[in-house]
Amino acid sequence: MNRPPIDLRSDTVTRPTPEMKRAMLEAPVGDDVYGDDPSVNALEARTAELLGKEAALFVPSGTMANQIAVAVHTRPGDELLCAETSHVYVWEAGGVARHSGVTARTFPGDLGLLRLEEIEDAIRPDDIHYTRTRLVWLENTHNRGGGRVQTMESVAAIRHWARENQLAMHLDGARLMNAVVATGTSAADWARHFDTVSICFSKGLGAPVGSALAGSADTIKRARAVRKLLGGGMRQAGFIAAGAHHALDHHVERLADDHAHARILADAFSATEGFSLESGPVETNLVWVTVDPSLGTAAEVVAYLKTHGIRLSALGGQVVRACTHLDVSREDAEYAAKVIRQIEPAMITAVTLVY
Ligand SMILES: *Cc1c(COP(=O)(O)O)cnc(C)c1O
Repeated sequence: MNRPPIDLRSDTVTRPTPEMKRAMLEAPVGDDVYGDDPSVNALEARTAELLGKEAALFVPSGTMANQIAVAVHTRPGDELLCAETSHVYVWEAGGVARHSGVTARTFPGDLGLLRLEEIEDAIRPDDIHYTRTRLVWLENTHNRGGGRVQTMESVAAIRHWARENQLAMHLDGARLMNAVVATGTSAADWARHFDTVSICFSKGLGAPVGSALAGSADTIKRARAVRKLLGGGMRQAGFIAAGAHHALDHHVERLADDHAHARILADAFSATEGFSLESGPVETNLVWVTVDPSLGTAAEVVAYLKTHGIRLSALGGQVVRACTHLDVSREDAEYAAKVIRQIEPAMITAVTLVY
């Protein structure tokens, strides 16, 4: 078996294409902390336009974009409302508490997609006993929610309510472009319901490094100061900004291929005894699968597939995630699907004995 491993662990594992590398090497650069990097400035202007906002800020990671968003919308002691499976709550090292002194009030949502009915009575009264409810946090597409898209109708309803109650809204749009391609609704149309929006260039878009935060000119001015505070002021960052530029030029429409490849994998899991799709039909590039204990554990399934050159993530005792991206071809997806369809409990057990 001489094929290179098919890495479905995350859409962050992509390597820059030769064309992207060339664009990066040739990028004009300057000191971005001085505002002198033409490639960063161009990317920030372009991202602001893409998201229909006045300004944008280039940052090293999606985590930093989110943490800055919390900081600019809140004061220490405030509360934000989010789904309990949100990236900001689960996978950002408790940063909302540590960096901004904010508490998160969490809700189950529809497997992560926050519903207005859950949060509409959650605003704390203006009373000395309570913290100030300040920020509503959505994630679209929702990673732990199976990569599903929160509908525009639901987003608009939450926005309407948030505005009536003077709450700010942030969109963790690490995979917003997947939602754009899956729905045909533009990034600016999604973004207009939010005060700030973060997007990642290093997920499905395939750039090696970088995310951005977009919002009003005043908000982004304050965000720039928080970025410096967090140590995120980079110097000749144009080299990496050029990768993001290239990704926006060449890697957006092709996300539809990732979605088609994810459906090939999802169909294979659905058709195989012992697996079920956690959150229904796959809409974008993530496939979250529950492993029935009669088949084995998530870690055992991952170990078995690894022996066939297929890498998945075990994210919980009985849950695996497969993620499609730029470096997974249709042929790769079809090969992985074939291997998945042949899985039987005895195979999983056999690997477990060896490992
Ligand atoms: C990956 C991810 C982030 C954070 O991005 P990093 O660049 O890894 O810090 C934020 N939100 C969601 C939903 C993500 O999937």
